[in-house]
Amino acid sequence: MFEDLSAKNKLSKKHTQHFRRCLALNRNSAGFTNELKELTYTLVCDKAEGAYIWDVDGNKYIDLTMGFGSILFGHNYLPLRNAIEEQLKINWSVGPISPLAGKLASEISKATGVERVAFFNSGTEAVMVALRIAKAVTRKNYIVYFKGSYHGTFDPLLTLKNNPVTNVAKEVVPGVTQSILNESYLLEYGSEESLDFIKRNKDKIAAVLTEPVQSRNPGVQPVRFLKQLRELTEENSIALIFDEVITGFRIDVGGCQKYFDIKADIVTYGKVIGGGLPIGIVAGKSKFLDATDGGCWQYGDSSAPSVKTTFVAGTFCHHPLAMAASLKVLEMLNDTGDNLLHNLNAATANFCNALNTNFKKRGYPISINHFGSLFRFITPGKTNMLYYQLLLNGVYIWEGRNCFLSTAHDPGLLSSLEENILLSCEQLVSQGLMKRKAQNESLLI
Ligand code: PMP
Repeated sequence: MFEDLSAKNKLSKKHTQHFRRCLALNRNSAGFTNELKELTYTLVCDKAEGAYIWDVDGNKYIDLTMGFGSILFGHNYLPLRNAIEEQLKINWSVGPISPLAGKLASEISKATGVERVAFFNSGTEAVMVALRIAKAVTRKNYIVYFKGSYHGTFDPLLTLKNNPVTNVAKEVVPGVTQSILNESYLLEYGSEESLDFIKRNKDKIAAVLTEPVQSRNPGVQPVRFLKQLRELTEENSIALIFDEVITGFRIDVGGCQKYFDIKADIVTYGKVIGGGLPIGIVAGKSKFLDATDGGCWQYGDSSAPSVKTTFVAGTFCHHPLAMAASLKVLEMLNDTGDNLLHNLNAATANFCNALNTNFKKRGYPISINHFGSLFRFITPGKTNMLYYQLLLNGVYIWEGRNCFLSTAHDPGLLSSLEENILLSCEQLVSQGLMKRKAQNESLLI
């Protein structure tokens, strides 16, 4: 398989090698091991349409990466493309504010129930600002986040380890120095001890940041824990921040807040709402969002900004193309009155359940977890060859391994994808790269 895949991706590898000297791209050495050296590269693609991508060698793949979860309607979706092209004809400059920003804010408010909305460029930036305004409003310094979560690349969140006694996040990534982590607590997700810890440290904690369902662990949907967190943070003047960069506008138009019927104080969005263009959104209660602009006031009377502000800014924060794309995404979601997302969630559930049944039947030591249209394979061992075999068989899954379905993954495609995945497993078994489970052995699923 190694040689076959290397040959199939010849031009991707050649391109990677050619530009490595000047293109510093971490993905090109992600997970490097000597054994997998020849398969360590990022697929280079120049065409994407619907649920498919094409690499520079001309190979076609079913895409399960879907712009890291930013593409909900399939690649190059015509209505979205038209909306972007129309806006391109009108204006794509920044400086004065785009008239689309206010409109988009009010549409998001209507769709999700948030009171106020602020625009940025990425999920990382949204999370960074959410934490800043939480600290500004609560006048406390510490933040809590949870093991297993991913919130982007803001420094105080960039570690996977903590001090087991103090729970303070611990330096792991070079350059993310201990001093920048000293006001971050990293706790177990879903545990009673974490709730107790937050209670004990309530006077120091400004915010509890959580992906309601962790994208790296979509099988865990701890609604009781989330409700307990909501109560605890409410009682103790701690901001509850839902990071809905993945779940927002995907699990439901109203995101996890609606799905679990829990109102956070601050919510971050990104990905899907941008329709494939860069966007990050901080939304939520006025009490917190007012720290960006001083709150509401009117012309013609004695009112004035009344809330002390922190600092937020960014050259491209209300980029007209991103605003136009987001408005179109929202319009398309609203037009379907939730059906589109519900159907996609149901299709993903059927697809995952069918595969899990077949994995079990055939004794493959693999399972799939999903939440809405996000799913992940659970594979044994550290390195797993499934992703390489799938790539060889025409299915693309990026290095982070979160998989996403879009509305372009129609029933016909899903059934051939299912066959492809089962065939890939069988091929791994026959090459000795995966061991079938004995009939009586308990399976992972
Ligand atoms: N939060 C979550 C839950 C994410 O999944 C991501 C990115 N995958 C981010 C934040 C960061 O978003 P971005 O990559 O746009 O900075």
